[in-house]
Amino acid sequence: MAVRYQSTRGSSADTVGFVEALHSGLAPHGGLFVPVSVPGLPKGWQASPTFQALAQTVLANWLQDEYDSTVLQRSVSDALNFPVPVVPLEGPWEGVHVLELFHGPTLSFKDFGARTMARLLAASLEPGEEVTIMVATSGDTGSAVADGFSGIPGVRVVLLYPKGQVSPTQERQLIVERTGVTSLRVDGTFDDCQRMVKGAFADSALSHVTLSSANSINIGRLLPQSLYYLWGRIQLGAPGLVCVPSGNLGNLTAAILAQLGGLDVRGFVAAHNANRFFPDYLAGEDAEFEASVQTMSNAMDVGAPSNFERLEWLLGRERLSATIRGVSVSDDETLDSMARVFNQSGYVADPHTAVGLEAIRRLRGDLDAEVPILVASTAHPAKFPESVRRAIGREPEIPERLAAFWNRPIEVGDIPASGEALREVILEGHRPDAY
Ligand SMILES: *Cc1c(COP(=O)(O)O)cnc(C)c1O
Repeated sequence: MAVRYQSTRGSSADTVGFVEALHSGLAPHGGLFVPVSVPGLPKGWQASPTFQALAQTVLANWLQDEYDSTVLQRSVSDALNFPVPVVPLEGPWEGVHVLELFHGPTLSFKDFGARTMARLLAASLEPGEEVTIMVATSGDTGSAVADGFSGIPGVRVVLLYPKGQVSPTQERQLIVERTGVTSLRVDGTFDDCQRMVKGAFADSALSHVTLSSANSINIGRLLPQSLYYLWGRIQLGAPGLVCVPSGNLGNLTAAILAQLGGLDVRGFVAAHNANRFFPDYLAGEDAEFEASVQTMSNAMDVGAPSNFERLEWLLGRERLSATIRGVSVSDDETLDSMARVFNQSGYVADPHTAVGLEAIRRLRGDLDAEVPILVASTAHPAKFPESVRRAIGREPEIPERLAAFWNRPIEVGDIPASGEALREVILEGHRPDAY
């Protein structure tokens, strides 16, 4: 049966297929696309020999009406061509397993969604059709999207980031020269970047350009992210408690989609930094969206999580509160967590993963010791060398694929925080003589 999608703010009488949801990004009436019903997991999924094999059978269930099976297989195997290890921790951390999601080219879990979405988008374009993907970023999304979409025929990426507000390692990953990618350093804040992107979508002078967005509201990024929870379950050999370091709640929404499809879990933990809207909401408080607070786990600095609306639509507050425990962790606790985990088990965690590990440490007393715990590790520690040094007194090992970014040529444009400046850049790429 075909999977249909509706808007969180629309009626179930008004649905679209995956490709239309993928191209539109945002759903009607300012809502987000959600599957009207979640397809069950394919029979025998637990016997998948590799992550890639699992990904292909599970995604086929979601996408088979709209993609030819050969195209789908090729897209998935090309996108998800890196390992997904589950690492058991030792010492007092026995029973805790780290689901390492940072083995892709830009070293965060964002590679799963961005790389898969890029290939699914390319496969859905008509011959000669062109799309410009807009992305405002303050960290991992930009590099994953730029890397994932680079060189894909018919796709151009325009990436905006706030000048002086990303770390040197993050910036380097954003500005290396890539085919089909225009990186823009904006003299403004992340909010300015987001406003400029929104403005471009509404700009009538750009109405002849097909714009699309690749942030975590796009359903095309979410589906591939549910796959690794299934893989983690296979490696655990039993239903576990799944902890997700969270910001916009995309990763947690993907986990919930896996559960709705039939994944057996013993519950979820939403681990947040000082941006504690969701933990407060789960605790039954009168929580409201707020401006974000800066922390050392900066990819989770979100005051108004964009996928919250999806989660509430999918489960409702009562079920969310029954299924998910929320925890908020301060920066001091994050640093302590990095040091503690390293000293007790030898594992070097990045600040985001450390928020998850601290949440688990706090809850562990109340948990059944027999239940295995799976903590999603969302980024490689080498992306945050300054924080790792502060926590454990030495820098993490730098994997070669990260070091290699420093040897590549760079290309970045400086623009003011204005819609006109962005419009000019977008139009430049679409002059007839540019081709
Ligand atoms: C994006 C990101 C998160 C937050 O994920 P959400 O899906 O926004 O909740 C956590 N950690 C890292 C390293 C990230 O890049």
